[in-house]
Amino acid sequence: VVELRYVVGVDIGATNMRAALADEKGIILKDVKQRTIIGKSAESITRQVVELIKRVVGEKAGKLKAVGIGSIGPLDFRRGKLISPANIPFKEIEIARPVAEEFKVPVYMLNDCTAAALGEKAFGTARNRENFVYITLSTGIGGGAVVDGHLLIGKDGNAVEIGHMVVDFEGRLKCGCGRRGHWEAYCSGRNIPRFVEYWIEKRRKRAEGSMLIKMIKDKKLSSESLFKAARMGDKLAMEVVDEVGRLNAIGFANVVSVYDPELITVGGGMALDNWDLISRPILRDIGRYTINRVPEIRLTDLGEKAVLYGAVALALKPPGLMRGDRWACSRPYKDLAT
Ligand SMILES: [Zn+2]
Repeated sequence: VVELRYVVGVDIGATNMRAALADEKGIILKDVKQRTIIGKSAESITRQVVELIKRVVGEKAGKLKAVGIGSIGPLDFRRGKLISPANIPFKEIEIARPVAEEFKVPVYMLNDCTAAALGEKAFGTARNRENFVYITLSTGIGGGAVVDGHLLIGKDGNAVEIGHMVVDFEGRLKCGCGRRGHWEAYCSGRNIPRFVEYWIEKRRKRAEGSMLIKMIKDKKLSSESLFKAARMGDKLAMEVVDEVGRLNAIGFANVVSVYDPELITVGGGMALDNWDLISRPILRDIGRYTINRVPEIRLTDLGEKAVLYGAVALALKPPGLMRGDRWACSRPYKDLAT
C-alpha cells in the first residue's frame, strides 16, 4: 500500500494570503484565503503564514511532504526572507525557517510571479511553452519568466522585478519602494489613485464635472472605481485609463524586448476584473515601443490562483532543485519538469 502524501502551496501577497493543500498530482483539495494583516512587527506576518498553513493542513500534518511559497518580493530567497517589500512596511520578514521548524518539512520559496510562471508551465496556460512571461497587474506589478525552458531566478530570487523598471525617466511619481518613475508607481492597483490625482492636477479645468473629483473628495477613489467610472463613460476616467494603458504598453514592450517571449500571460486581480479596458491600449500601443515580434498576450487560465498553483508545483518538484539551504530553489527549470 502506497501511503498518500500531501504538499502545501502558499501565496503571500500584500493584500491577501492564500494557502492550499494539494495531493501528489497537484490537485488542490482545500484552499483558504485571508487578508494580509499588517501588525506591529514582521513576526506577525510570519505567524499569519504559519496559522494559515495549519488551517489547510488540518489532520494531514503527519503526511505533509513539502511546503512551497510564492511571495511578494524583493526576496533573499536563500535565507527565505522578504527584504523591504514595497507594499509591507517591514525591513525583513523571515518566512522559510519558521515554517520549516513548525512543520518539519522542506520549504521552497520563490518570488510570487516566478512561482506563478512555474504554475503556468505545470498546470496552466503555458504548458508546452519554452519562452513565456507571466505578468501580474494587481496591488503591485511583477513578473516571472521562462526563457529557453529555464525558469529565471537571479542571484537573490528577483530576476524579473519588472514593476520596478523605470517607465518615466522624469520620475514624476514615487514608488512604494521609495524610488521614482517605476512602472508600479503609475499602474498598480495601489498607486493608480495617486496617478489620477497627478493627472487631474495638470488638467483642473477639464476635470470639472468628472466623477473622479467627487471620488477623491469622498476618499472613494481606487483602481476599481476608476475603471467603473470609465465604463460609465466618464471622459476623464477614460482618458486616465488610456494613459495607464499606454504606460502598461511601455512596460509590456520592455518585457518583450528583454525576454523575447512567444506568450505573455496576465494575472492579478485588477487585470482579471478589467481585462477588456486594460488589454485594449496594450495591444494597440505595444508595437510602437518594442522592435521584437509582438507575442500572444492573454489572461491566465489559472485566474487568481496562479501563484498558489505555482507554489504547489514548487513543493511537488523538490528533487535536485536545492542548492545548499533547504529553502533554496535555483536550478534550471528543465531539472524541475517531469
Ligand atoms: Zn519601485
